[in-house]
Amino acid sequence: MLRQVFDPLHLQAATLDVVAGSHAPRSLLLARQQQRLARLLEVAHAGSALYRERLGKKQVRSSDWLRLPPVTRGELMARFQDWVTDPELDLDALRAFTADPGRIAEPWLGKYMVWESSGTSGLPGIFVQDAQALAVYDALEAVRHRVRGLGAGAFGAFAPLDLLGLGDRHALVTATGGHFASVCSLERLRRINPWIGSNARGFSIQQPACDLVEALNDYAPTMLATYPSAASMLAEEAEHGRLRIRPRCVITGGETLSTAARARISRAFGAPVRGSYGTSEFLPIAWECAQGHLHLNEDWLLLEPVDEHHRPVPPGHLSHTVLLTNLANHVQPLIRYDLGDRVCLHTERCACGSPLPVIQVRGRRDDILRVPGRQRGETVSLLPLALCTVLEEECGVFDFQLQQREQDTLVVRLALEGPEGQSAIERCREALQAFAIAQGAQPIRVLGEAGCTVPRGRSGKACRVMLGG
Ligand SMILES: [Zn+2]
Repeated sequence: MLRQVFDPLHLQAATLDVVAGSHAPRSLLLARQQQRLARLLEVAHAGSALYRERLGKKQVRSSDWLRLPPVTRGELMARFQDWVTDPELDLDALRAFTADPGRIAEPWLGKYMVWESSGTSGLPGIFVQDAQALAVYDALEAVRHRVRGLGAGAFGAFAPLDLLGLGDRHALVTATGGHFASVCSLERLRRINPWIGSNARGFSIQQPACDLVEALNDYAPTMLATYPSAASMLAEEAEHGRLRIRPRCVITGGETLSTAARARISRAFGAPVRGSYGTSEFLPIAWECAQGHLHLNEDWLLLEPVDEHHRPVPPGHLSHTVLLTNLANHVQPLIRYDLGDRVCLHTERCACGSPLPVIQVRGRRDDILRVPGRQRGETVSLLPLALCTVLEEECGVFDFQLQQREQDTLVVRLALEGPEGQSAIERCREALQAFAIAQGAQPIRVLGEAGCTVPRGRSGKACRVMLGG
């Protein structure tokens, strides 16, 4: 069964392609990109009723791509059956599958890897990858995301897919409990390769910080991969001498890595910090070079920075959102898909010599909430991703904003109205209070407001958990 989600021939072909693409002139890369785009449009036209409607009846050309209206996750998920190119993929069955944490990384229908987005804006999406897409992600991770000068590979974009760096102990600190891309990727590798299984371990950011610190101290990872906010919290633990790990490199993903956070994390661990950019829709969108710049894997994807009316934004300007076209995945075509992140594309060549363009990303960046701890004078950090996971996984709310009003008071705002909203607030209150206690905090107050307009999508993605105001 695993053969289908780890095909050595696909991987070999994709790896050769990615190695060649890493040194090819940009004109050649763009030619490859256009060939892949033409193929994707053919596949989408033939197999996806949703895209056939959008593309029209006649034969498609790659130039047709630009006249396709952008799509959102909500639109695609609402017409899941029309969207996917394999009629055997059934949304109800997939929802039941992803609701079972015991089945993480189990091949679906014997040939697909399935993960769910953590629902950073609206309802969670279900993403299905075939062997070809997985081979491309693996190859991009293994070839381009390797941490140069360290002699070993790294996790990138939360997909710990380094197939070569076996001399390291990798710790992946993420939200767990769901079929998230990072967790599925790690579990997939553990199943495929026992070597990797013994040298990589996942750690939950939902556990109390002291337990996480103890577990990391025991494991003594040489590579640490996590969200920038979690890395900052761990840096604080290291500064206080409680966390005593000495990773050779810290890899971050999932949120924007600020210059200040990078400097602090690097200082605390005495190790370089490498950012990455990836999503559930395309795992390794961009990798960071030795110059500290994110390079777009544009031979395998298209990324269009656009304004609020989906008009192109020129290089050097920050976009309102960005449209992704995934050239690797044919089973669930993503063509001009609104990712919601704000990016800035640069056309100048990077000093590292890579032909791939440089982007800056301003994606989701939530605040860490600090509440009073049980010990006098102590504060406890509640991480934004852990808080979001509590609200999504335990309370079943996805459209929310959580704000800290006073030191010990959080306000949860929900779009849900009426009795449904009130009962959701009750669930959130109980879960957040229990979560804070489990983290070592004093009891907190949780106030609720139902029927609110919750900032959504583009900006909503950036401020679901926020400090005062
Ligand atoms: Zn570079």
